[in-house]
Amino acid sequence: MTTTATATATASEDASTPADGIAASETTLPIQERFVSLQGEGALVGVPSSFVRVAGCNLRCTWCDSPATSWAASGARTSVEELVRFCAAGPRHVVITGGEPLLFRGVAVLTQRLAAAGHHITIETAGTVWLDDVRCDLMSISPKLSHSTPWRRAPRLAHRHEQRRLALKSLRRLITSYTWQLKFVVQCGASDDLARDVAEIETLLTQLAVAQRDRESVLLMPECTEPAALTDRYRALTRVCVERGYRVGERLHIALFGHTPGT
Ligand code: SF4
Repeated sequence: MTTTATATATASEDASTPADGIAASETTLPIQERFVSLQGEGALVGVPSSFVRVAGCNLRCTWCDSPATSWAASGARTSVEELVRFCAAGPRHVVITGGEPLLFRGVAVLTQRLAAAGHHITIETAGTVWLDDVRCDLMSISPKLSHSTPWRRAPRLAHRHEQRRLALKSLRRLITSYTWQLKFVVQCGASDDLARDVAEIETLLTQLAVAQRDRESVLLMPECTEPAALTDRYRALTRVCVERGYRVGERLHIALFGHTPGT
């Protein structure tokens, strides 16, 4: 049950909820979708989980795979109470994703309620902002590399995206405050693209002082929404992962269901 009429920000370059700062409501959240499925990415791949997807993002990745939370954000304003009830009826694991969940004060309240109820909480974030009072068992951080910037798709927004996509202060605070994983979407169809992405990743890992032993928590996920192409993409990542100690990041939901909302 939603608490108010559907709140939508229809398709425009600036559609965002919110564009800047932290949305203040502690009792409601703009929810794009919620469902129960298997975790498709990261260290907990395959684990049955409730997914709560928040609408609204401060970035505009050119290849965004959830544009209904960013480029054309639309969400039903939903009470925290309703979300707690939804999760109570599902698995122990809850994944709060987006969009950018850490833009919403209500997410902190939701995580407190879910933690008190005994849930395991994963938050999927781009790591560009910090939100106080969040309870989280796994901070799943996906910093965005330079190929995400929409220079052709939306030049006016590209500058803003470029300024925001890597926020070292927030990233450092997140990885020193929570159990974490770093998930990088990489382009591996051509070796030059992969080399560029790996160079950017190495620079960031140095800036964040990520220890050698923690590289097993650094995952490289192929930018790919075609199930038939996934195996070749994983294969293209094998060598660099073995050499540098990264993990190949599975995309189980793509392999099982293709690029389908609610999976
Ligand atoms: S951070 Fe995530 S939700 Fe936001 S634009 Fe990029 S891929 Fe889409």
